[in-house]
Amino acid sequence: MNNTTYRNLFSQKERLFTPKRIVAINVKNGKTVWLTDKIFPQHFYPLSIKNYCEAVKVAIKYGTNRMPILSVSSKDFPYCDFNCLDCLACPSRKWAVTNNHIKYPIIPIELYKKVLDEISRYSKERGCEHVRFEICGEGNPDLYKNRVEMIEYATKNCGMGIVYVSTGSKMTNELIDCLVRNSSCIRISFPGITPNAYNKYSNQWKCSFGFEDAISLLKKLTEKRKEYGREGELLIGVRTCIRPLNDGSYKKFLETIGSFGVDAFQAVKVLTPEFSQHLEQTMSQKVVRELLELKESYKELGIQDFQIPNNLNKIYNDRSLKEEMKPSKCWSSIVSPPLYGTNLMCCVLWDRITDLSYHYGIMEGKIGELENMMTGANAQFINENCPKNCKDCCSYNDNKFMESLWKTLKVQDDIDDIKFFFEY
Ligand code: SF4
Ligand code: SF4
Repeated sequence: MNNTTYRNLFSQKERLFTPKRIVAINVKNGKTVWLTDKIFPQHFYPLSIKNYCEAVKVAIKYGTNRMPILSVSSKDFPYCDFNCLDCLACPSRKWAVTNNHIKYPIIPIELYKKVLDEISRYSKERGCEHVRFEICGEGNPDLYKNRVEMIEYATKNCGMGIVYVSTGSKMTNELIDCLVRNSSCIRISFPGITPNAYNKYSNQWKCSFGFEDAISLLKKLTEKRKEYGREGELLIGVRTCIRPLNDGSYKKFLETIGSFGVDAFQAVKVLTPEFSQHLEQTMSQKVVRELLELKESYKELGIQDFQIPNNLNKIYNDRSLKEEMKPSKCWSSIVSPPLYGTNLMCCVLWDRITDLSYHYGIMEGKIGELENMMTGANAQFINENCPKNCKDCCSYNDNKFMESLWKTLKVQDDIDDIKFFFEY
């Protein structure tokens, strides 16, 4: 079956969610030189791990300066209508808006367009036509007043794949329509998965958007997706944190959202800058059993992809980076640097956000500025200090597989003989 036939037969979601692993094969002798089954389709969508493998191949052939930016997570609105317990963004957004630490915590739309142009130009010249652009605010991204214009520009003019992450509490009908028509993924965050848990953990000053509102929003999004015939490409997902009041309710919740056609569910551990107070807290055996059972049966409930942490023991997400696990370089800072306002940074770890030496620079959207920024003095500082001086890592899995592939590829006789294939 050739590539075109394959593309016509299967939707984008099917193509990216059915593979079981990816292999690097020497097509001359048929030998598999590298493989992994940790392919995390939700994490990379609408790109896939294959794009990252190709980028590592580019690094071997032409150097890391020729790698494209594949994904940008944009923090462009530092205010929120929720007041969630353990909000990870709270301390950094306070820092961002104090003393002009971040020049444009809310980016003026005309400047935003130039920044989007420059990112897509830089990546297209390096072989990536569709940069994954994740809009997650550091607050509620629905509240950015030019959101519709920004999304339409990013998709239509820059060819970006939009991933939109929000509670959805302030989505207008116009924004819903724009997202369903244009974006690749909409992920709705649920502070809790029952009415009581939602109210408690969202901790809103005035509870104006509750669990039932969020469920109605999901229903509306899936209905609109059907209306626009985008079921094969628009991924709709849900994320929640594993917390005590959610215990015992996961199955019912999955049944509800699966019945509308929600594709993906993700449960993550609590992340908080004050993590030390949670270090020794463990999950109840009951919730561990519940999540592991659902891992086996989620498809029966209508969900296509189900993600839970590997280690279901401690409630706190331990991201410590041990010396022996450090990669030779921070790959993710090259291929997926986040934007905070218009500051391009190496990653979203709290102590990296709040130290301007770890920012590549402030983007102005000038043609060619990314070439300077990604090789300039700050880039060299980042390269010398990361991961050497990183104690925790927010991109551990990405860095791990890229490092392992790079080590394998650099000893191959002819890199052009190496091709990547998904296995089903
Ligand atoms: S919705 Fe997100 S940004 Fe807003 S308070 Fe909750 S965790 Fe923080
Ligand atoms: S913490 Fe991880 S992602 Fe961030 S700079 Fe260090 S190695 Fe890179």
